[in-house]
Amino acid sequence: MTDRVLVVDALSAGSGQRRSSRDSIGCGPRTVAGVFEKHDIHCRIHRIEELLEKRSLLKKFDHVAISAMTMDLPAVTKFVKLWRGSRTQGRIIIGGPISANPLDLKELNPDVIVIGEGEATLEELVTEKFFEKYVELSEIRGVAYPVAGQIIVTKPRDLIHSKILSESYRASTTRIIDYNAYQASKVYVEVTRGCSNYRRTNLRLDDGRQCSDCSNCDSDDSKVRMDCPEDIPPGCGFCSVPGTWGPPRSRTIEVIVEEVRELLDLGVHRIVLESPGFLDFMRGREPLTNPCHPPANLEAIRNLLNRLNALPQVANKTAHIAIENMKACLFSEDVAKTLVDSMMSSSPNIGLETGSEKQLRNIGKCGSPEDVVEAVRIASQYGMNPFVYFIYGLPGEDEETVRESIEIMREVSKAGAERIIMYGFRPLPGSAFANYPESSTKDELGMQLRKEADRINREKKDSYLGKIIRGIASEPSWARHGYTMVSPLEEGPLMTVPGGYSPGTLLNVLISEVLSSGLVAGEVVQDEKSNR
Ligand code: SF4
Repeated sequence: MTDRVLVVDALSAGSGQRRSSRDSIGCGPRTVAGVFEKHDIHCRIHRIEELLEKRSLLKKFDHVAISAMTMDLPAVTKFVKLWRGSRTQGRIIIGGPISANPLDLKELNPDVIVIGEGEATLEELVTEKFFEKYVELSEIRGVAYPVAGQIIVTKPRDLIHSKILSESYRASTTRIIDYNAYQASKVYVEVTRGCSNYRRTNLRLDDGRQCSDCSNCDSDDSKVRMDCPEDIPPGCGFCSVPGTWGPPRSRTIEVIVEEVRELLDLGVHRIVLESPGFLDFMRGREPLTNPCHPPANLEAIRNLLNRLNALPQVANKTAHIAIENMKACLFSEDVAKTLVDSMMSSSPNIGLETGSEKQLRNIGKCGSPEDVVEAVRIASQYGMNPFVYFIYGLPGEDEETVRESIEIMREVSKAGAERIIMYGFRPLPGSAFANYPESSTKDELGMQLRKEADRINREKKDSYLGKIIRGIASEPSWARHGYTMVSPLEEGPLMTVPGGYSPGTLLNVLISEVLSSGLVAGEVVQDEKSNR
């Protein structure tokens, strides 16, 4: 009997139950399953909360591969205890963003930790028969493993070349069926990996490192931008993407379209083209380390979107393709026109983080607050409803930066932003701000920012009253007995309606009440004609 591997999706589980993005399915666990499928290893994906509830599921598997983020350590700890409690044998592999600091996983005593980009490392473990016999892990790059209570970390593995990434590694599509309510979920399909922002913070880091103004960050030479004499991680100080995944690598249009086709044929209705910066898609030459120049590759974007639009489910509008992250400094009229001409009715998610130009510079962010206001104005002019991201509790935050952020929030709202997304600062391993204190919800300045974002978002929800939104039923409401949560098929708010509808049912909802800045209530109406 070949080994049976359980792929555990612990992403955003936190202490064991996802509170946000409950209708999202990331591409990490499917990527892991893709490596096992490539080597004919039987695998199934389960969300960690499902496994913590139904322990009997564990019996069906011999080994486990866990995909998690730093915030999910509590849930992963519970799971490992359960897994160990159910057997004496069976390998435990842990990977994903949680592996950025392997020492944090010491207490879990896993068999191996796959650090950073995982496909090639996992493949080497598989070909070395890691599930069947002893393997000398010190020979394998990109892993960490426990020895005598210590964690040994081997040399980092080179990032996979973009050509190999497309030719040799495919995220599993078949395993999408392992997810409950996948028909109603946003399923992420990777388009690019890595980020082009090779600016860096100039704030002093806890270990004394600080920018010495060597000007490499402003060099016209893309390779020079990769080199910081002070060894400050590249990119926005709060983010570990460029430090972990390097400059952007794009997958080929063929591979992306094939993956989307297979997922749609399995009943997925909502696809999100996953990328830290979609407008980096096939932009410029590698290594791409300038976040704002050259401009987006409109031809490549047009080709990709036209191929996706030709897929039957997209053409007959029973499926929707969305794009999320876009850098404001690349979001021009030509980009907006290209998206609209390609019938891409998806709205850009634009990161701003702070309305203070000074703080923006200090944290290493590219572009300017004005770039964001302009991008929102353009997007709105072309009928899109952009989201703008802010972070409270960021290093350098003070009364002045908060005042400027509130001012810009109002400006982007007036310019047409659909929603202000507010996150609390979290020190991520592998980022420049890894050792800065985490934000507190009790902090007065943070409260001011959240209050303003909430006020704007609630106001925006009012514009949905009396409208009919096309949506897809996902799961029973936790808060309202006998109600069903409904996600918008295209754009729009999360909805809740009376009645029980099975996951994946397409519905038209007449919006009757704003319940919060993120949720509206409504009635299901038979009328096929909808306002959006
Ligand atoms: S490369 Fe480093 S030292 Fe040079 S300008 Fe950038 S952050 Fe400063």
